[in-house]
Amino acid sequence: MKTVEEIAPDVFRGTGTDVNFVLLRDGDALTLIDGGYPGDVTAVESAIRALGRRPEDVQGMLLTHAHVDHMGAIVAFHDRYGIPVFTDPTEVAHARREYLEQATGKDFIPMLHKHGVLPWLLRIARAGATRSVSVNAQAFTPGHPLDLPGGPVPVATHGHTSGHTAFHLPQHGVVVTGDALVTAHPLSKIQGPQLLPPVFDHGEEDTLGALDHLAALDADTIVPGHGPALTMPISAAVDVVRDRTH
Ligand SMILES: [Zn+2]
Repeated sequence: MKTVEEIAPDVFRGTGTDVNFVLLRDGDALTLIDGGYPGDVTAVESAIRALGRRPEDVQGMLLTHAHVDHMGAIVAFHDRYGIPVFTDPTEVAHARREYLEQATGKDFIPMLHKHGVLPWLLRIARAGATRSVSVNAQAFTPGHPLDLPGGPVPVATHGHTSGHTAFHLPQHGVVVTGDALVTAHPLSKIQGPQLLPPVFDHGEEDTLGALDHLAALDADTIVPGHGPALTMPISAAVDVVRDRTH
């Protein structure tokens, strides 16, 4: 299995336990967007080394949102190497675990009879899904390119969590959608652009509203938080999601 997939020049998708992370490269320097589960730290480190870089070469780490399946290596690398972490002003308190907007084990009990749910729960439990994680993140200003390798532009897509953010890479026509729009999930029977099952969303109404912010972007390559990358204009992907949701 490939450790990293080059989505666009210097834009790489890596995979943890049923979840993606993204590396942006600029010369020797890297930006890491999301970091899998706590148990995915080795997967993230392997991806970095496959690019001929070291964790210390990561200049900054970005969180689309502060769920445990996206914070793993972010927390580990912050603690080990002091690499700064940035997220939406609203998401900062979530990353610090001043509050928690995340489904817990009991939320999945009604779904246990469904195909694939139990194996998935066991898989993510092994990856550290029940571990409590927090990180002292700093706030960025949404809408402005960040002074980090790859020059990602945070796009406020609040809904899945109160401060969820996507990242636009205008020079490559790529959008990293996080969990605002995904292309597959072990708990979903369908492939292609879709929302996560509602159990994962903090605010379902807002999650639909956030799609407007994605649809307005100039991007034809989508790198989601879960599922494969997709070559499709983001506005068309949003149309597919809206059709499926009605
Ligand atoms: Zn997720």
